[in-house]
Amino acid sequence: MVANPTRIDPAELRLPPAVAATFPPSRAAGLARLAAVDPVAYARTRNHLRGAVTRLSPYLTHGLLSVPEVVAAVGDDGKLAQELAWREFFQLVHAREGAGILRDRFRRQPRSAPDAGPRRLPRALVEGHTGVAALDAAVRALVDAGYVHNHARMWLAATACHLAGADWRAGAAWFHFHLLDGDLASNALSWQWVAGSGSAKPYLMDQANLNRFADTHQVGTFLDRPHDDLLAGPVPEALRESIGLDLPVTLPDLPPPELDPRRSALLYHPWGLDPNWRAAEDADRWLLLEPAFLARHPWSPMRLAWLLAAARSVPGLRVAVADAREVLAPRVVAADRGEAAAARHRAHPAVAHWPGPRDPLPTTFAHRWTVDAAPRSFSAFWRAVAPR
Ligand SMILES: Cc1cc2nc3c(=O)[nH]c(=O)nc-3n(C[C@H](O)[C@H](O)[C@H](O)COP(=O)(O)OP(=O)(O)OC[C@H]3O[C@@H](n4cnc5c(N)ncnc54)[C@H](O)[C@@H]3O)c2cc1C
Repeated sequence: MVANPTRIDPAELRLPPAVAATFPPSRAAGLARLAAVDPVAYARTRNHLRGAVTRLSPYLTHGLLSVPEVVAAVGDDGKLAQELAWREFFQLVHAREGAGILRDRFRRQPRSAPDAGPRRLPRALVEGHTGVAALDAAVRALVDAGYVHNHARMWLAATACHLAGADWRAGAAWFHFHLLDGDLASNALSWQWVAGSGSAKPYLMDQANLNRFADTHQVGTFLDRPHDDLLAGPVPEALRESIGLDLPVTLPDLPPPELDPRRSALLYHPWGLDPNWRAAEDADRWLLLEPAFLARHPWSPMRLAWLLAAARSVPGLRVAVADAREVLAPRVVAADRGEAAAARHRAHPAVAHWPGPRDPLPTTFAHRWTVDAAPRSFSAFWRAVAPR
């Protein structure tokens, strides 16, 4: 059941020009960005907000580029390859643990405010006026640009969870709504990694760390305290008031797909916009947006606009709004009886519930993991899958 979604005419969903310029929504733009990646500069500077990070994440999240393609271009043994392996580690945990990734993986986060809840965050953080310049700039980037540097994501998450005692799930929902690269696994499991519910110890930083990597020069802020105080001291005044997040559910006003039983169908999901997937096949191509998914994990209109524009990278792809089980289950039964052509999709942990034949998700590292259970930590995963 979708709680009062807003149905929007897709033609009215427009990308802000600045976002369209920074992250042009196409595979061609992803390839151009990949060609410009400098893995040596990346390894040296990636922790700095001005560092040579790739900004490939919206393209990787939506399957416009794959990890194997990126690894083929940048090599499989440097720092960048290892970061790409983090992505595959999170996807693998999602594939093995399913919706379990949305629950505490190992333990509860150390601090929890009395009013913490899965959709409550400090007002000052959400509104970007904490007084800590690097945090406030990161919030503006999140909302206006849909992209935040990895280090700044860690700072926002640590501030929310450790200083304010907000539930990591609230932060994950907030990020997932705004980020152009919002990805259930990377997002929820990164929040858990920072919060300490999914890692050996919580991640924490102080004002000196922000000053060093964000080029700020602030002193005396609520982050300018010893680590023990940050983790267990009183909640800073600026973070005491919390608010319920307003993350409205928006859907493009589109009908379900018209599946012709005589023709093969290729079903795409938002994480698999690969124009090369079965490109030579004569088939009907439909991108399915599922109301139930978006009701649980809403996206901003900007994210939706980006996705619909990016879908044009797949020739002949039409977009539909429908529950995949409702649409596909009868088709699978008919295909099994020889009464309809196949309707196939590509595997991804977010569509594990889709019925019908599926092609594997292309991976570089994850398929080297041969254990049934998910890896407990990235280091265990990397020890098993790193190139030798
Ligand atoms: C709290 C939090 C939430 C996050 N939410 C998401 C999310 O929703 N979607 C998402 O794709 N990433 C997420 N990340 C991981 C990481 O921050 C982004 O992948 C990265 O910042 C994207 O920018 P980039 O492409 O310039 O990264 P680069 O540093 O240039 O890295 C290249 C690619 O490697 C992968 N990668 C790099 N670092 C990580 C990482 N720590 N974990 C997983 N993959 C990584 C990404 O696919 C990225 O595009 C999150 C991290 C944190 C701390």
